[in-house]
Amino acid sequence: MPQPITIIGGNIAGLSAAYYLARKGCPVTIYESRIWDKPCGGAISIEYANYLINELGIDIHSMNRFIPTVRFCFTNNHTVETDGLFAIVSRFDLQQQLIRRLERESNINIIFKHITLKTSGSLSSQTVLATGFSGFTRQIIGKEWHQREYALALKYTGLCRAVPQNPGHLMFFDSRLKGYGWVFCGNNSLFNVGIGGLIEKKIIYQKFDEFIKLVNDRFGYDIRPNSSPDAWKIPIMLNNWETPVSFYKNGIEFIGAGDVLGLAHPVIAAGIEPAWQSGWLLGESYDRTTHSINIAKYRHLLKKNLQLTSRKPFDIIISNMLRMKCFPFKDHMSYALMKLFHKKITGQIKKYPWFAMVHDGNKKTGFKTGAF
Ligand SMILES: Cc1cc2nc3c(=O)[nH]c(=O)nc-3n(C[C@H](O)[C@H](O)[C@H](O)COP(=O)(O)OP(=O)(O)OC[C@H]3O[C@@H](n4cnc5c(N)ncnc54)[C@H](O)[C@@H]3O)c2cc1C
Repeated sequence: MPQPITIIGGNIAGLSAAYYLARKGCPVTIYESRIWDKPCGGAISIEYANYLINELGIDIHSMNRFIPTVRFCFTNNHTVETDGLFAIVSRFDLQQQLIRRLERESNINIIFKHITLKTSGSLSSQTVLATGFSGFTRQIIGKEWHQREYALALKYTGLCRAVPQNPGHLMFFDSRLKGYGWVFCGNNSLFNVGIGGLIEKKIIYQKFDEFIKLVNDRFGYDIRPNSSPDAWKIPIMLNNWETPVSFYKNGIEFIGAGDVLGLAHPVIAAGIEPAWQSGWLLGESYDRTTHSINIAKYRHLLKKNLQLTSRKPFDIIISNMLRMKCFPFKDHMSYALMKLFHKKITGQIKKYPWFAMVHDGNKKTGFKTGAF
């Protein structure tokens, strides 16, 4: 039996890497600080929700509220509606269920321990770095990681005094936000609300207040946050295949996955599925004969899959437009475009979800779109 490959970070990317490496016959040891309710909207595609149910037996229905409607709202008070594209999961429940499921595998060992550079003596010579946007990631990757681009997001969770009859995922569009806002109501009147985008910290709080006002005044929610939410960073990289995927520190080769590599979608900053996908591709890159991860193969698979899924030309064009200093689109123009093309856009999302997990190279994985 070969020595286990160590994985730091037992959330989406780390657990996925563990699962797929173990399936290839590679024993793994995961180190995770704690199970926690990560600040996250928790939106996943229906395809991925079905995948978690069918492949891993995860009880998504117990933690999910399917969002029947997506409303694209514009600052000029217009909305465009389309049917739902997402399921919403509690990140706490998802991490807990995934860990319980993986603990049943004989070659996966999960240890609850916070890893520091001082305790890195227990790590294998190739170690998976799936520590997300954390201090540990910064310590390993250093200055370069700091310079990467990120989206800024605010999230608030609480009880909703009134939930409208027809709750929806609100995609709030505002040219200053360069991102979107969301309201997801869960069971027992719990809601999570937030905004995120390529926005400066000094105006994100103001945009958050505007969004809460819109949600209450226009859509019948009664949300009154009693404290100011914290701002969180979601690392995003446009051309991730041009930057390294592994990093040396203390004689260990740390191989990045998920947020560490900035794999979140360049426009909507959804990172759960790309994180899962990167763990899967990491597993695909495992070479049984040398008992090591083939970095060149991993890099190649990442590039290929991201081009097929969340880095399609359409997304690259939109994200480049959003990044332009003087964003040329006025809100009313965006509304007109969305009104004209929303059927086409949502049709494309359903056929080829913006998220990952749809393709493995050129082959379809057999993910079912549509009913949940
Ligand atoms: C406000 C907000 C809203 C978002 N909304 C969405 C959304 O709706 N849909 C979506 O798809 N994505 C969303 N995202 C992005 C998504 O949350 C991330 O892209 C995703 O969680 C990345 O997964 P990961 O496994 O790479 O990292 P993480 O989920 O950050 O996991 C890293 C893990 O490593 C552990 N860890 C860190 N350091 C150590 C250490 N030293 N030792 C041991 N363990 C350690 C942490 O405890 C953590 O469990 C959102 C993000 C934010 C901030």
